[in-house]
Amino acid sequence: LLLLGIETTCDETAAAVVRRRADGTGAILSNIVHSQTEDHAEYGGVVPEIAARAHVEVLDHLVARALRAAGLRLDEIDGIAAAAGPGLIGGVIVGLTTAKALALAANKPLIAVNHLEAHALTARLTDKVPFPFLLLLVSGGHTQLVAVTGIGEYEKLGGTMDDAIGEAFDKTAKMLGLPYPGGPAVERAALQGDPERFALPRPLHGKPVPDFSLSGLKTAVRIEALKIAPLSEQDVNDLCASFQAAVVDILADRVRCALRLMRHQGLKPSALVLAGGVGANQSVRRALHKVAADGGTRLAVPPPELCTDNGAMIAWAGAERLARGLHDGLDASPRARWPLGEIEGVGAARAA
Ligand code: ATP
Ligand code: MG
Ligand code: FE
Repeated sequence: LLLLGIETTCDETAAAVVRRRADGTGAILSNIVHSQTEDHAEYGGVVPEIAARAHVEVLDHLVARALRAAGLRLDEIDGIAAAAGPGLIGGVIVGLTTAKALALAANKPLIAVNHLEAHALTARLTDKVPFPFLLLLVSGGHTQLVAVTGIGEYEKLGGTMDDAIGEAFDKTAKMLGLPYPGGPAVERAALQGDPERFALPRPLHGKPVPDFSLSGLKTAVRIEALKIAPLSEQDVNDLCASFQAAVVDILADRVRCALRLMRHQGLKPSALVLAGGVGANQSVRRALHKVAADGGTRLAVPPPELCTDNGAMIAWAGAERLARGLHDGLDASPRARWPLGEIEGVGAARAA
């Protein structure tokens, strides 16, 4: 199966072509990402209206480039996938409407993909990860631990009670005067910092349910920063290193808890899958590699450029669904909010 994938839920406009072979393995034929970071930089965050307009400006061109780079014409594609949510609704409408027009023009099936399911399934494109697996989804808008038993079969074990982890990185960066997006900036600064200089809290450590709470950690960074202001470059580096060390400890503890829960449910995870933008962080990857091994499984994580938003993950999720007979009508709705638990799965398709 050859799938075209379109991603426009946030501040990346992206298009890609992916192949899924009958044996379930995949290959990326093209993957083009246009980041709007510069359009939003002066505001310190994503401005929805600017994002939607920027998607409109570049999307047609990106789709044409993705097809050309794959060496394919539109009529050689088997399905058109677009992220239909969750995300900023203006951008979602742009991507989904474009996909509908292409599907109608080429008479191909449309697959309205959940952006979170796409993050979750990316590891199956780059690696061999049979069901069930434990998913740690850590992105700009989401922080969840999920038992994944099939396409569309997601049981949430725990989630954040306040901020997402990516959001905590972004807010910490902003507070310390580092550029947006905050994750990569904090990681770079942390490389030069002392992770033990500041004693920061690890909220919910040891709790039997794998939930997260980040707002106390963020506040603790603020308090430490105020105590020693004005901040030198070394102070900023040390605060970043201490913050990142706390995040890594929190993730490790919560994942251990989720692995125990899954075992109690009689599920043996084939892997711990790390997904979403925070998965690009090298300290997080290193720590979870060890947690997975100690927990009797292994870490499966896509390369950093496939952890953050991209078109290949949408195309791949579309391929996984189309391969199981799941596709959508041209009346599919864009959705600002769309939890993983509300995705139609294979069971529902069989029943229908
Ligand atoms: P969602 O997927 O929840 O809708 P999103 O699409 O905006 O949100 P992603 O693109 O998956 O999120 O990830 C972006 C987030 O990842 C940002 O918060 C960013 O700071 C964070 N991030 C990116 N790279 C790194 C890194 N190296 N270290 C830590 N965080 C990172
Ligand atoms: Mg983004
Ligand atoms: Fe995302």
